[in-house]
Amino acid sequence: MKVHIITPFPEMVNSIVESSILGKARERGCVEYQIYNLFDFSDKSSNKRIDDYPFGGGSGMILKPEPIFEAFKFIEKGLHDTNSARVIYPTPDGKLLNQDLSYELSRIDEIVIINGHYKGIDQRVRDSMVTDELSIGDYVLTGGELAGMVILDSIVRLIPDAINSKESADLDSFSQPLLDGPHYTRPSNYKDMKTPEILLSGNHKEIEKWFREKREEKTKLRRPDLWEKYKQLKEGSR
Ligand code: SAM
Repeated sequence: MKVHIITPFPEMVNSIVESSILGKARERGCVEYQIYNLFDFSDKSSNKRIDDYPFGGGSGMILKPEPIFEAFKFIEKGLHDTNSARVIYPTPDGKLLNQDLSYELSRIDEIVIINGHYKGIDQRVRDSMVTDELSIGDYVLTGGELAGMVILDSIVRLIPDAINSKESADLDSFSQPLLDGPHYTRPSNYKDMKTPEILLSGNHKEIEKWFREKREEKTKLRRPDLWEKYKQLKEGSR
């Protein structure tokens, strides 16, 4: 997968894509990142301005259309297939990101992420090039970098070979109908806080049953919406 990121703060994005799983996925050849500084595409005659006042009044600034269109034009020249590429604009008024969408995007070859700032970006950018307006939750951040990286992280970890165990990702919350259960590691007894005996028993069938019960308990308590879906699935499979 090739990911193109347009941002006025490349250093923020750089530090994230170079670390942890996102960095490892690049080392493993699963993903390539290209980061574009929005200021490099600003009009020199406007003193490298990337934002301006909103038409119609009101407070807050808007990211100007020209630098984003110019950056996109530059990226577009190198895309293999403009039609299948997805152009993501992280925005609180977008569709709420979920695991199904992350799986879908993990199968795309080319992704462009446009990070907004201030009040957002000029509507003409949204209308003409964005394919996916995505929100990471019902709250507002100051800029698109963190949101864009949340979206990217959730996608990249689902690319085969990006992480050591794809099977583990496929068992996580939202990849399965139930939330994930409790996990323990060594030492089995830490300051008198003990690991449940069953996990040390080596009885795989009983361990699996225990995990499922814990996942069910947690899902029922914390996510009645998922619990209802799970019950329907279970009934349907009988
Ligand atoms: N005026 C916008 C609104 O009310 O919907 C909020 C703009 S926000 C202050 C600045 C930028 O941060 C947005 O353009 C977007 O790129 C990013 N952002 C903030 N919150 C976000 C969220 N919950 N999901 C995705 N992106 C978000």
